[in-house]
Amino acid sequence: MTFSIHGLAVSRGVAIGRAVLVASSRVDVAHYFIEAGEVAAEIDRVRAARDAVVDEIHRVQDSVATMGPKEAPQELAALLDVHLMLLQDVELIAGVKHWITDRLYNAEWALTTQLEVIARHFDEMEDAYLRERKADLEQIVERVLRAMKGAASPVEHPAHRVRKQSQQDLLLDDTVDVPLVLVAHDLSPADMLQFKKSVFAGFITDVGGRTSHTAIVARSMDIPAVVGARTCSQLVRQDDWVIIDGDAGVVIVDPSPIILAEYGFKQRQGELERGRLQRLLHTPAVTMDGEKVQLLANIEMPEDAQSALKAGALGVGLFRSEFLFMGRQGKLPDEEEQYQAYRRAVEGMQGLPVTIRTVDVGADKPLDETIRDDAHLNPALGLRAIRWSLADPAMFLTQLRAILRAAAHGQVRLLVPMLAHAREIRQTLAHIDQARAMLDNRGVAYGSVQLGAMIEVPAAALSLNLFLKHFDFLSIGTNDLIQYTLAIDRADESVAHLYDPLHPAVLRLVADTIAESRRQGKDVCVCGEMAGDTSLTRLLLGMGLRSFSMHPAQILAVKQEILRSDAGKLALMAARVMDAEDPAAQLALG
Ligand code: PEP
Ligand code: MG
Repeated sequence: MTFSIHGLAVSRGVAIGRAVLVASSRVDVAHYFIEAGEVAAEIDRVRAARDAVVDEIHRVQDSVATMGPKEAPQELAALLDVHLMLLQDVELIAGVKHWITDRLYNAEWALTTQLEVIARHFDEMEDAYLRERKADLEQIVERVLRAMKGAASPVEHPAHRVRKQSQQDLLLDDTVDVPLVLVAHDLSPADMLQFKKSVFAGFITDVGGRTSHTAIVARSMDIPAVVGARTCSQLVRQDDWVIIDGDAGVVIVDPSPIILAEYGFKQRQGELERGRLQRLLHTPAVTMDGEKVQLLANIEMPEDAQSALKAGALGVGLFRSEFLFMGRQGKLPDEEEQYQAYRRAVEGMQGLPVTIRTVDVGADKPLDETIRDDAHLNPALGLRAIRWSLADPAMFLTQLRAILRAAAHGQVRLLVPMLAHAREIRQTLAHIDQARAMLDNRGVAYGSVQLGAMIEVPAAALSLNLFLKHFDFLSIGTNDLIQYTLAIDRADESVAHLYDPLHPAVLRLVADTIAESRRQGKDVCVCGEMAGDTSLTRLLLGMGLRSFSMHPAQILAVKQEILRSDAGKLALMAARVMDAEDPAAQLALG
C-alpha cells in the first residue's frame, strides 16, 4: 500500500529505488557490488569469518569448563550456547547468501542487511526474553564483521560500481540492478563521508535539521535526501520501493505505477535542467549592470577540489578541515598527513585561492561515533570549533603548521570558526605566530596566508570593528549565525520550523556585516547554506554581497540568478525586505 512520509528537504532531485535499512553504527562498513563471478569467494569470506568466531567461542567454552561457578557463572555458559546457536541460524545464513547471490552485495553489506531484517523480527516478538536476544545477534554479527576486517576482501572496493538504471528499466525488471536508497535513524557526518564512496542513490534519516552537517554533506554529494523523517526507518521495510522527493522533503513508500511514472518524469526533467545549466559553465558571473560576483566552493575533502573546478568555482571559500579529523577512533592526523591533504587541495585548485578553515568539531560533528557528546547538555554551546582548538594548543599548532606549509604551494587563506571574544582573537593570532616560529626553528618552508574570521555568533556580528581590525577578510557562517541568533539547534528536527534565514534579526546581522566590511575595504563572503539558496541570491546581492561560497553542485544555478539580476535595483528591494514585518512575503513580491 502506498503511503508518504514528510520530512525536511535537504538536497534537490528525485531518487527512486529499493530501501536498504542500515543502523548508523554499521554504516561505515563498505557497500559495493561484486561481480557474479565473485559470489562464491564472497560467501567463503563470510563462512571463514563465522568459523573463526565459532572457534573463538569454543575456546572460551573450554576455558569456562575448567573454572569454578564463581569465576564463570552458569549464565555465561548459557550465553555462549546462545551465541553459537545464533551463528548457525538458518535465517541468518540463508539471508546473507541471498543478498550476495541475488543482489551481488559485498559480504559485509549482506551481513548487516540480513541483521536488520532479523532484528525487525525480534522487535516484533511478544516474549521479552526472545526480544532481548536481538542484542546477542548484534554482538555476534559485529564479531563476524571484525573477523572479516582481519581477512581482506578479495576484491578491491569498487566504489564506482554504482548501478544506474533508467525509469523504464526499473519498471521492466525489479529484481536486480536497481538503484538503492539508504534509510537510517541517524547518520553522522563521518558516516556520510563513508557513504560518499558508496553506491546509494539517495538517503533518508529520521533525525536531523536542514543545516545539520549530515544534510550539508548530502547536499555536497548532490544526491536527493530527506532528513527529519521521524519514524521513517521503522515504517519502511528492507527492500521496499521508495521515492525520495528531495525538493519537497517527501518520501513515498511502495508507490503505485502511476506515481512511479510521475516521479520518473520529474527525475528526467531535473536531469535536463542540470544539463541546460552546464551551458553557463564558462560564462563569468556578472550582473546585468556589470557587477562582478565571485562564486566559490565549499569542500569537505581535498579530492572535492575536482568537483569545485568542474563546476567553474573561482576558488575554495570554505574547506571544512574537520572532516579529516572525523571517524578515526580518536587518532588525529599528524602534521605531515594534514600538510599533504591541504597541499592536495591547494594544488588541486591549480592556482586559485583555497580557504582552509581550522578544525570545527563538536556539536553535531563528533570526532567519532564512540565519543558522541552526550556528556554536555548543550553541545552546540559547548567546546566546539575555535574553543576546542584553543583548549588543545598542541593539536591547534599542528594544524596551523600544516596549513602554513601548504601555503608554500599556492594561495591559501586561513579561516577561524566561531570566534566571539577579543581574548580568543588574541590567542589565535599568537598561536599563528608561534606556529610560524616553530617552522622557522625547524627550517621548514611555508607561505604567507591571508587571515579570516567567521562571523557566525551574534556577538561577533555585533562587534565587527574588533574583527575588521585584526583580520584580512570575513566569512559569514549563516548556518550557525541563524542557530545562535534564534536559539534553535540546527540539528534538531523538532525545531526545524523555527530555522529562518529571513528573520529580521538574521537579515540585520548579515547586512551589517557585509556593509561594514565593504566600507572598511575588506573582503566579505557568505559561506553558509544561504549562499547556495537561489531564492536568496537576489537579496544577498541587494545587500552588497559579491562573494558567495557554496557546494559545487549549486554554483551554476546561483550563477543563473546573478546573470538575470540588476544589482543596482536590488539594493532597494533588499532595503524593503529588511524593513518588512514579513520579509518572506516582501521577498516574494520582489
Ligand atoms: C556556517 O555555520 O554557516 C558554516 C558555514 O559552518 P558550518 O556549517 O560548518 O558550521
Ligand atoms: Mg559554522
